[in-house]
Amino acid sequence: MVGRDPKGMDQMNLAEPTHAQDVKLIRAREELRAALAPARREGCSIGLVPTMGFLHEGHLSLLRAARAECDVVVMSLFVNPAQFGPGEDLERYPRDEERDLRLAAGAGADIVYAPPADAVYPEGFATQVEVGGGLTDVLDGDPARRGPGHFRGVTTVVAKLFNTVGPDVAYFGQKDAQQVAVIRRMVRDLDIPMRIEVLPTVREPDGLAMSSRNAYLDPRDRERATALSRALRAAEAAAASEGIAAGLEAARAELRAAGIEPEYLEARDAENLHPVAESNGRSVLIAVAAQVGGARLIDNVLIQP
Ligand code: AMP
Repeated sequence: MVGRDPKGMDQMNLAEPTHAQDVKLIRAREELRAALAPARREGCSIGLVPTMGFLHEGHLSLLRAARAECDVVVMSLFVNPAQFGPGEDLERYPRDEERDLRLAAGAGADIVYAPPADAVYPEGFATQVEVGGGLTDVLDGDPARRGPGHFRGVTTVVAKLFNTVGPDVAYFGQKDAQQVAVIRRMVRDLDIPMRIEVLPTVREPDGLAMSSRNAYLDPRDRERATALSRALRAAEAAAASEGIAAGLEAARAELRAAGIEPEYLEARDAENLHPVAESNGRSVLIAVAAQVGGARLIDNVLIQP
């Protein structure tokens, strides 16, 4: 396979993977470390793609990027209870492990690491990783549904994954822009010796950002949901000619026309997430979250200076 260096990975099936059995499914941390040890000894690069599964093209774009750049590609598959608030969709979050294994194999994953929740959070688990500096307490929307606890759950599990896998690079999607800012800061602040790669949001042909949660949308809400990406495109166009405030107003008008009341629609500095009224030469993130029927959807656009 092009760009693939199987050094140290000879225990794996290196044929072009197209079946679930072509990817190595590992559930135990010790087994994962043992499987990666030869590659690490040989100096092979390890890429990690963290996911909650129910894979779509967004996830696959991250896996393909990892495949192109790294010798060994690990995808984690874990629906992390710690990042769901009370009343959120943990129980009904869509799951299909067999299909995920097949798709992960097809996109070039060597290993899928899918630990059980009680192995990630054993009895007596008491440590949290929390990024401060205002990065996790903005853009959270309705605090009754989703507060800083969400990002504490994300950073704690991602720090554990980084420690378990020891990747050279981890791949994340721009769709979860705040998550990207928070994880970048965690890696920087904790001196974790690795690189974070961020890939663009993959969309359906009609603009809807791909998300595992799109499965919750009935046909009518699926149609209404296109207003989010339309609103962001309108924001981008208006911001370019008339400034950020006009961009936000244009987005709000698109959402209103679709009968969508956003949980938030905000302009923030793309790096530190401080609220901004104008770009002042820096990248601005316009981000939206909204409940559309049964799904809480998020999307964003980056406005370059
Ligand atoms: P999730 O399974 O939703 O936790 O997402 C796993 C990774 O895939 C995260 O880094 C997400 O940002 C990324 N991701 C989710 N949806 C998309 C998308 N539409 N385009 C690109 N990346 C995505």
